[in-house]
Amino acid sequence: MSRNRFSGRTALVTGGGSGIGRTLALAFAAEGARVVVAGRSRAPLDETVALVGRAGGTAVAQVADVSRPADVDGLVRATVERFGSLDVAVNNAGVFRGGPVADLGEEDWRTLLDTNVTGVFLALRAEVRQMRTQPGGGAIVNVSSNLGAHKQVPGATAYAASKAAVTALTRGAALDHIGDGVRINAVSPGASDTPMSLRPGESEAERAVRMKEESPLGRVASTEEVARAVLYLASDDAASVVGADLVVDGGSAL
Ligand code: NAP
Repeated sequence: MSRNRFSGRTALVTGGGSGIGRTLALAFAAEGARVVVAGRSRAPLDETVALVGRAGGTAVAQVADVSRPADVDGLVRATVERFGSLDVAVNNAGVFRGGPVADLGEEDWRTLLDTNVTGVFLALRAEVRQMRTQPGGGAIVNVSSNLGAHKQVPGATAYAASKAAVTALTRGAALDHIGDGVRINAVSPGASDTPMSLRPGESEAERAVRMKEESPLGRVASTEEVARAVLYLASDDAASVVGADLVVDGGSAL
């Protein structure tokens, strides 16, 4: 079934130069959205824009660091200047830093909080400020993780804390702003098919063997599978879904 749920809408995807964010950009564009991809490095964003263009879609790139308020406010402003509205936003930019608490450097801790927590807060703030001025409001999806609010594993405590905060931000902001016409939800992926789910020095084949043991489903999620959950929550199909945190992890957190 071909669908066009985002025709005439503008979708912003942070972290759109790679992994899940790139797949999201392609998926939104394939369903008719004009897409803005953001990240710190220009080249991967340009590559995403080229891929969207080759598939017949429309996308533009904007360099922005989600931990910087001026960058985030400028990103939303530039999106609206370019396309006239901000209808959908996916706060997907994130980083992983591992290690047991006793061995974790303060710099890694601060990077996790700056990117994964402050980055989502700043984005939510700028996006809601824009969306609540629009007659149609908007929909926001935060990309969290099954680690944190749903599951703990050794060596990922700081990352898990940052993602538990994303889940809390999602629920709280959803309540704060549903009255403004802005619907906010989260998707919490488990290990997905990007380098972020590889252990240090691990190959994809080794990860596949590990996943057979660790995941009830027995494999990582594809980025397309994660994207389909995000698009559902961002679409009118989910018009009455507010503050949900959709876990896409093959049953790992059960
Ligand atoms: P990825 O390929 O590393 O993507 C992360 C993206 O975020 C990159 O494009 C990166 O681009 C961008 N980014 C990082 N810091 C940024 C900053 N300060 N400002 C703006 N952009 C920034 O990893 P991924 O696997 O697709 O992850 C996407 C999201 O899914 C993350 O939030 C991650 O925590 C979450 N997640 C992933 C998995 C998994 O197994 N892959 C599982 C659960 C949750 P630049 O470096 O150029 O800025």
